[in-house]
Amino acid sequence: MADSEFDVIILGGGHNGLTAANYLAKAGLRVCVLERRTTVGGAAVTEEFYPGYRNSLASYVVSLLREEIIDDLELRSYGYETISLPNSFYPGLDGSHLLLTENENHNKEQIGKFSSTDHDALKEFENIVDQVGGIISKYWMNPPPKLSGGGLSDIINAIKLGNDVYKLDADARHRLIQFLVGAPETIIERWFESEKIKAVIAAHCMPGNYASLEQPGASLAMLHHAVGEIDGKQGSWGIVRGGMGKITQAMAASAIAKGAEIRTDSEVEKILVKDNKVQGVRLKQGTVLLAKIVAANTDPKRTFLTLLGKKYLPDNFAKDISAYRMESASLRMNLALKGLPEFACIDGQGVGEHHRSTITFIENKQHLETVFRSARAGIPSDRPIIEAIIPSVLDDTLIDKPGTHVMSLLCKYMPFDLADGRHWDAEKEAVVAKILDYLALYVPNLHDILHSWQCLTPLDIERIFGMTRGDILHGRLEPDQMLSMRPHPEAAQYATPVDGLYLCGSGAHPGGGVSGVPGRNAANRILNDLRK
Ligand SMILES: Cc1cc2nc3c(=O)[nH]c(=O)nc-3n(C[C@H](O)[C@H](O)[C@H](O)COP(=O)(O)OP(=O)(O)OC[C@H]3O[C@@H](n4cnc5c(N)ncnc54)[C@H](O)[C@@H]3O)c2cc1C
Repeated sequence: MADSEFDVIILGGGHNGLTAANYLAKAGLRVCVLERRTTVGGAAVTEEFYPGYRNSLASYVVSLLREEIIDDLELRSYGYETISLPNSFYPGLDGSHLLLTENENHNKEQIGKFSSTDHDALKEFENIVDQVGGIISKYWMNPPPKLSGGGLSDIINAIKLGNDVYKLDADARHRLIQFLVGAPETIIERWFESEKIKAVIAAHCMPGNYASLEQPGASLAMLHHAVGEIDGKQGSWGIVRGGMGKITQAMAASAIAKGAEIRTDSEVEKILVKDNKVQGVRLKQGTVLLAKIVAANTDPKRTFLTLLGKKYLPDNFAKDISAYRMESASLRMNLALKGLPEFACIDGQGVGEHHRSTITFIENKQHLETVFRSARAGIPSDRPIIEAIIPSVLDDTLIDKPGTHVMSLLCKYMPFDLADGRHWDAEKEAVVAKILDYLALYVPNLHDILHSWQCLTPLDIERIFGMTRGDILHGRLEPDQMLSMRPHPEAAQYATPVDGLYLCGSGAHPGGGVSGVPGRNAANRILNDLRK
């Protein structure tokens, strides 16, 4: 016996599920979002992780969220506000540092400490990244063309893409292909001479990747992070006042205002199917909710293999999804600090430009290879590469007491499976102690100001957000898992082999990150199919 009936059930209340809910409710459909946690938002949530200290729990910087979606969902009127984070700071262990700001003369002098040619090379390189990123970002808002059997719109999309590539000059076309299928190592060595700038570019590959710099196709992740913008500036990043949860709270409020129903603490156990047609879902507590359309915000493996089940899928499709690569080797920490971190490599009291920065702790290009190999062997590195921000220097809503701070750390690469059968729950404290000791080499007052910490291991990321193997992007961003193949040629346009089952999460084109694009594109596909 069914408890309720809807036009569309959205399985999962991550930011993409909420985006889809908004577009579908706006079109007049009866929409219900089912979220397993007590709060919506998926990986874009804010939490008080220690009394008096709030922070984005997982995802921590914004750039990819599309302006069209912000406007369509009227997110600003529901409290969404960004703060730009224009600086990048690369502290060194040898007393040197690199601080890049919006001031080009300053940057020239900073890079000049390491090389006489790398400043100009970096400008040229960024120009290419912008050009190529610009093309990629244009195709984010359309479904990727079908690999075969497409209709007129697929042909038009393919022609448009071909035309944009054709318009590039020969050099830019060469670079585009290098970015799409080349290895970062080649790109880095082609452009730069100093170890410092090589490390900077290597670090660009890192947040979404789990790959060696020598792996063909691993450069794509660098582009994926270049297509965003803040305040109209391409490639810029920022933070959200009040943390990333403010995005999803605004999305939820906007969806509710349009008539969508949102149910939290509602874990879906099974997607119900009869004669290859979706019937609805069954919750863990036994409730059955009916709908002819289910849009899954969950990742492809969870959606198809766990919530649906292989027996409802074509054999080849199920085999391909089983082989879809998921793992990003990410460990996330939030630090509650009694005072401001002071860096060994930079003099000065109080908040400086280096605090208002993304801060990347990478020793050199080889550092990435070392942590990658260690992770592949199942050993968490004692000296991980860390990307950090101190959002409280820009946003005092995150702390109760002036002078205290929160710091976000993304530590890479940290394996999901540990060697010798060790378990993350047993290892976590020891791994955290090593990370903090390493960080203290750069920030000598760290142990004095540390009040408390929160750590999400790859296993925690899977447990808390339902991201298979802790993959923060719902599947690796590598060429065979992108565009018309994400997550599979028969599901890349958001519809799946099961009639009425759609994908609306980061496992669909264009992939992970807080963009809202898979949710928006999936909603458009559903609305188009309903018009047929
Ligand atoms: C540690 C970390 C750091 C990151 N940093 C950044 C960053 O700084 N910037 C950026 O742009 N991106 C970042 N990302 C990536 C980005 O946050 C994600 O790609 C994005 O949030 C995924 O959104 P989504 O809506 O597709 O899926 P999710 O956020 O994964 O949402 C899926 C939802 O489905 C729910 N769910 C799962 N199973 C069920 C079920 N059976 N029944 C009901 N509900 C279910 C989950 O609880 C979750 O709420 C980060 C991610 C992580 C984890």
